[in-house]
Amino acid sequence: MFNKVLIANRGEIALRVLRACRELGITTVAVYSKADRDLKHVRLADESVCIGPNASADSYLNIPAIISAMEVTDSIAVHPGYGFLAENADFAEQIQKSGFVFIGPDADVIRLMGDKVSAIQSMKKAGVPTVPGSDGPLPHDPEACVKIGRKIGFPVIIKAASGGGGRGMRVVHTEASLWTSVQVTKAEAKAAFGDDTVYMEKFLQNPRHVEVQIISDGQGNTVHLFDRDCSMQRRHQKVIEEAPAPLINEEARQKVFDSCIKACNAIGYKGAGTFEFLYEDGHFYFIEMNTRIQVEHPVSEMITGVDLIKEQIRVCAGEKLSLRQEDIRVNGHAIECRINAEDPTTFMPSPGLVSNFHAPGGLGVRVDTHLYSGYKVPPYYDSMIAKVITHAEDRKSALKRMEGALDELVISGIKTNTSLQMDLVRDEAFIDGGVNIHYLEKKLGL
Ligand code: ADP
Repeated sequence: MFNKVLIANRGEIALRVLRACRELGITTVAVYSKADRDLKHVRLADESVCIGPNASADSYLNIPAIISAMEVTDSIAVHPGYGFLAENADFAEQIQKSGFVFIGPDADVIRLMGDKVSAIQSMKKAGVPTVPGSDGPLPHDPEACVKIGRKIGFPVIIKAASGGGGRGMRVVHTEASLWTSVQVTKAEAKAAFGDDTVYMEKFLQNPRHVEVQIISDGQGNTVHLFDRDCSMQRRHQKVIEEAPAPLINEEARQKVFDSCIKACNAIGYKGAGTFEFLYEDGHFYFIEMNTRIQVEHPVSEMITGVDLIKEQIRVCAGEKLSLRQEDIRVNGHAIECRINAEDPTTFMPSPGLVSNFHAPGGLGVRVDTHLYSGYKVPPYYDSMIAKVITHAEDRKSALKRMEGALDELVISGIKTNTSLQMDLVRDEAFIDGGVNIHYLEKKLGL
């Protein structure tokens, strides 16, 4: 096992990783920007290093600064958390070249999955069901594109191969507007991602977002930890997640689990990962793979009892996966509400001093947060400040437990979306289960 791990992230996930390291007997190194001196995990870490000014580009995304911090602290491995450098293949490569271990898959696997066209192609080859589409990049030929569109059937969606964060996508309803849309998406993709490769997929009208959690040791052993439903989204950002996904066709589910495991073994995947699917009319359609731990991993941990971060660290330290598929069972249901420092109606960020903080508690309530009374939420980073997770014997009870937890939660001094979350867990259609990815925006009148 590594004796020292550097945590290249901030906020709740840095604290989550720190806790896992402590349980494994690993010494921890926190790195932080100037604005983040008072983060909870920075205070708890065995060592800490300031890696730059407030802007992420100069600190949490500053690869040379992070590598220097690893050198001066004699760290062995780096945990990237999610966001920032977690899916940056160049970072993983440079870490490895500098003689350190990146806690995640190999750089070439991150690269393969980071290009959506190559990801879809390799998943298809491994037997994972994909969205009907262009089977590769679109040619620079209007007629050929229209032909592809006709074959798939309108509406279609044009997507950037290097896209992410819900950007670089455009829905096209008619043949007449196809070529213009292709050109606009290409230009946007070039500007945003430095790559104008685009591809085409059938635009599914009423899908749910259902994803599969896997963990793999890169030695041919992979298990799945069932699925999560993350259909409650605003601007492609997840707001509530739950596990297992409700109302899924059992045969399709088992098949998709099997195909994810097969695909991981085929590409030599190592670490925790998520296969994201759209789910419509009983069918799964792969859209992308995230080669890292995700924000919503706690709901899978709650229903399986597996500590995903500890397992991730173990397999990346070269240990064989100790989990066996037959031992992983679903126990009850878990829900996660993301708490953001933002106005619940306008969604404007609301950084500032948290004058008072009280976390909910009780049986089956988990709160992953870096907040404490007197903490100042800086304006420079993502607005998510806490995750409230409830676990109970069934979905209905987990939702009821969430109502109580949200009611107990106190965050004073700044605005949060807690009241919106309360509305959502009391929403009749959501309580019934299985709402699609457009439900929340429609409800909000967007
Ligand atoms: P990103 O990497 O930017 O998150 P994804 O490929 O994961 O991009 O897609 C993000 C979201 O866009 C999906 O969760 C879904 O809401 C929507 N989307 C993507 N592809 C399709 C499709 N073929 N049909 C309908 N909606 C889609």
